[in-house]
Amino acid sequence: MKYLVDTHAHTIASTHAYSTVHDYIAVAKEKGLRLFAITDHGPDMADAPHFWHFVNLRVLPRIIDGVGILRGIEANIKNDAGDIDYFGDYLQELDIVLAGFHEPVFPPADKQAHTRAMINTIESGNVDIITHPGNPAYPIDITAVAVAAARSHVALEINNSSFKMSRKGSEANCVAIAKAVRDAGGLLVMGSDSHVAFSLGEFSQALAIIEEAEFPCDRLLNRSPEALLSFLAKRGHKTVDDFAEL
Ligand SMILES: [Zn+2]
Ligand SMILES: [Zn+2]
Repeated sequence: MKYLVDTHAHTIASTHAYSTVHDYIAVAKEKGLRLFAITDHGPDMADAPHFWHFVNLRVLPRIIDGVGILRGIEANIKNDAGDIDYFGDYLQELDIVLAGFHEPVFPPADKQAHTRAMINTIESGNVDIITHPGNPAYPIDITAVAVAAARSHVALEINNSSFKMSRKGSEANCVAIAKAVRDAGGLLVMGSDSHVAFSLGEFSQALAIIEEAEFPCDRLLNRSPEALLSFLAKRGHKTVDDFAEL
């Protein structure tokens, strides 16, 4: 099975990323992707776009050359309370909200603090997907997080970049996460976390983890545009009629 949906990509709006929307569309077409999300870093990161970047995502066409674009953010988990750096009515306007720990905003603390912050984020109702929960810089109580995510209908990400460029040593944590989510009845999603368009839709390492954990494909949100879109609708996002043709 080929996975043609990617929930995690950064554009040049985050200045440590190197591709434009046009670059992503070109790669998406070449690879036959059907739907992907633009998820630049939340405004609290030093090299993130301004708050207005996210407000103005509405100018993006819904579908370009047959490829659907979701308007998203990879927000920062800011504190123990699970607050993120995007809020209020603006959240409702986005199609997809990711959030995760990033060192400049939430310096690594201890396992208890990471677990509490992540579960509070999950339970806040503001976030659809937790990014790179397997990051070894932020140890968590994996079972507790998986159970909380399943209960709140929040997906945990298996981040393909974690096995290549960043977050070295994520493999064992990610296998444990996949197994815990499997047992808790929860949802997983694979994200390429592209910082350049070439890696859009690249999931080979993440897939190996998912297979190793014998995670059921019917709870993997990348399996089809419909699967991801119905998850987002259930989480309270507006349905986009244009996506019906995907
Ligand atoms: Zn991230
Ligand atoms: Zn990212």
